Amino acid sequence: MFENYLKYLDFLNTKISKFFNEQSPYIFCKKGCSYCCQHAEFPYSKIEAEYLKSGLRTIDKEIYNTVKSNIHAVLSEKETNKADKFLYTCPFLINNICSIYTYRGIICRTFGLLSIAANGNVKVPFCSSLGLNYSNILDKNTNTLSSEMVKQCGYNSKPLGYNINYDFLTGKKTEELFNIEFGEKKSLIDWFE
Ligand code: SF4
Repeated sequence: MFENYLKYLDFLNTKISKFFNEQSPYIFCKKGCSYCCQHAEFPYSKIEAEYLKSGLRTIDKEIYNTVKSNIHAVLSEKETNKADKFLYTCPFLINNICSIYTYRGIICRTFGLLSIAANGNVKVPFCSSLGLNYSNILDKNTNTLSSEMVKQCGYNSKPLGYNINYDFLTGKKTEELFNIEFGEKKSLIDWFE
């Protein structure tokens, strides 16, 4: 059922890991850092949600129960939330570690890298402002990468942004290339309503 999707994940994992390596002087991700799993929308397509749910069968019973109770809490919080966008901590995050790591979605795999936004501008990950990725070359006044700071790090040119926005990675071209149907897309928590 997930054969082609898994081939795509293999391809994507290789690419993403190459990108992280290329930009390692500016990357400060470490185990236990979970800012990217908090206060977000987490777009998930149908196939990603189904794959993640298939992973639930493999996790420890106690963790499974904690996830279930987290999902229930987030859904209750959503009911009373009046904001346009409902931002929440991912219910799979337990003690700052992803409890479903192998089965996580595409957005979870690309967090933390420089990306190219729909308008063509380079987008710096939000954790930069928290002193994490790219913070060593970020001009805080303009929220853009500083050539001067890049030079101070010993490099001649600013790092490039990658074409890793979610809509592109789960778009028509990818579907055709890998013979996948991503299906409906919505916030992760909405797949558990
Ligand atoms: S599924 Fe895992 S990696 Fe993705 S947001 Fe949730 S805890 Fe983080």
